[in-house]
Amino acid sequence: MLRTSVNKLFTAGIRQFSRRQYAAAAAIPDPIIKPDIQYNQIFINNEFVDAVSGKRFATLNPSTEEVICDVAEADKADVDIAVKAAREAFRLGSPWRTMDASDRGLLMYRLADLIERDRALLASLETLDNGKPYNVAWHADLGLTIKCIRYFAGWTDKIEGKTIPIDGNFFCYTRHEPIGVCGQIIPWNFPLLMQAWKLGPSLATGNCMVMKLAEQTPLSALHIASLIKEAGFPPGVVNILPGYGPTAGMAIAEHPDVDKVAFTGSTEVGKLIQQAAGRTNLKNVTLELGGKSPHVILSDADIEDAVETSHTALFFNHGQCCTAGSRTFVEESIYDKFVEAATERAKKRTVGNPFDSSNEQGPQVDEEQFTKILGLIESGKKEGAKMNCGGGKAHDRGYFIQPTVFSDVQDNMRIAQEEIFGPVQQILKFKNLDEVIERGNNSMYGLAAGVMTQDIDKALYLAQGLRGGTVWVNTYDVFTAQAAFGGFKQSGIGRENGQYALNCYTEPKSVIVRIPQKNS
Ligand code: NAP
Ligand code: MG
Repeated sequence: MLRTSVNKLFTAGIRQFSRRQYAAAAAIPDPIIKPDIQYNQIFINNEFVDAVSGKRFATLNPSTEEVICDVAEADKADVDIAVKAAREAFRLGSPWRTMDASDRGLLMYRLADLIERDRALLASLETLDNGKPYNVAWHADLGLTIKCIRYFAGWTDKIEGKTIPIDGNFFCYTRHEPIGVCGQIIPWNFPLLMQAWKLGPSLATGNCMVMKLAEQTPLSALHIASLIKEAGFPPGVVNILPGYGPTAGMAIAEHPDVDKVAFTGSTEVGKLIQQAAGRTNLKNVTLELGGKSPHVILSDADIEDAVETSHTALFFNHGQCCTAGSRTFVEESIYDKFVEAATERAKKRTVGNPFDSSNEQGPQVDEEQFTKILGLIESGKKEGAKMNCGGGKAHDRGYFIQPTVFSDVQDNMRIAQEEIFGPVQQILKFKNLDEVIERGNNSMYGLAAGVMTQDIDKALYLAQGLRGGTVWVNTYDVFTAQAAFGGFKQSGIGRENGQYALNCYTEPKSVIVRIPQKNS
């Protein structure tokens, strides 16, 4: 009984992103294959401006390797101006600080409505600049972005403190105040969604922002900048800067007048961000970093479901997910059968023009990632893993990589330890639950884990033992605005999404008032 019901309970989730699901979904508007690029400058004080240096850099279409357009290149001088604008917007008594919390929510709802209005354009920009399939961008990236902003809009007038019965004769209450000027540095794998995960909780709690976009994918998030102005946010509340990490990004992390920095990206750069905060003004730091997530397939799992779920857990977004289920642990008794079916599934994966809805996979984001992934595939072959399919470039032009499956993977191989961030699945064999918990946890990362089983006892045992910020059971990559997301160990500090994210953008203040004992 229990075994059947747990399986029925966990059927949603990743299938929402699967090909079959898309085919069944209502028709979506056609993509705009050559969108007019209207916004390619720095956004400060609700105005688009050039960089102080006048420098620009090219953003490329990873499907063709051609330049889409040039974009203003922010660096330290621009960050300084943006921080001043944000500081002024955060001044006590400013329009933003005196606005009713519910009106702040209204602005956020308006922003979500405008994103919905421009959904096809934004999804097209995402496909053009990042390479992800248009239907994925439309459904997943835009769908979740809109829901995220609306979810946090609802929180604006519900940021409540406490009254605390402290010792003595005092009235003690807490105020959950905004932290102040927040630096935010985002990656290229989900440009709009990562922007929303940062803007949602920080706007809801009344902060002001200086955000640096990833240099590979600035276009969609700059369109959002124009919508922030159109929605009516006061100037300086949100400032958005395209530019490079070591210059503009580091200028934010080191800035003495930035109160907090929130970063998503590699663990390596996350450490640099925390060091920069430590050697300057000890700003508050939250980090959402890499992963090498174990996905555990037990012998009682529905094998077809397990193959499809583990396939999508790894190959979704071309493997460019911090949560990618990149160590597929399969129980010994079904290992050979599973490897065969997983390989067949990967061979069927369609790779090509991301504007064509028949393709599940587009190009990797840039040449650097493409080269890094091919290098890791070579290391897997050299270290003795068995390559069942794929292994090379998928097309003559563009950064396309063949879906690749390795079996006979050992824990000490580079492909089992390093974040590949590409369409490369590692399948490992295990014998029992305690062994797979130990091996699953034997990683510097602790972002997420997955379990496929029809046995609720085993599901709960693994969910308890695996160390990660999220554990999915009989599903994978279910991201919702309501559930907290973040990492154990070197996968991060703090949480995004859900009520937990609000804590990362507020400072609790205790106010203690003496109560006179006699009215004399
Ligand atoms: P990354 O360097 O960590 O980039 C993430 C963001 O940090 C980008 O905006 C980047 O700027 C910025 N950045 C880079 N160096 C910086 C510095 N010294 N100071 C401040 N900001 C800095 O990641 P990547 O180079 O794009 O990708 C490398 C690997 O990171 C990937 O292969 C993957 O393993 C991992 N990654 C993880 C995530 C995630 O969601 N957890 C996302 C992306 C990448 P630029 O615009 O100049 O790049
Ligand atoms: Mg690009």
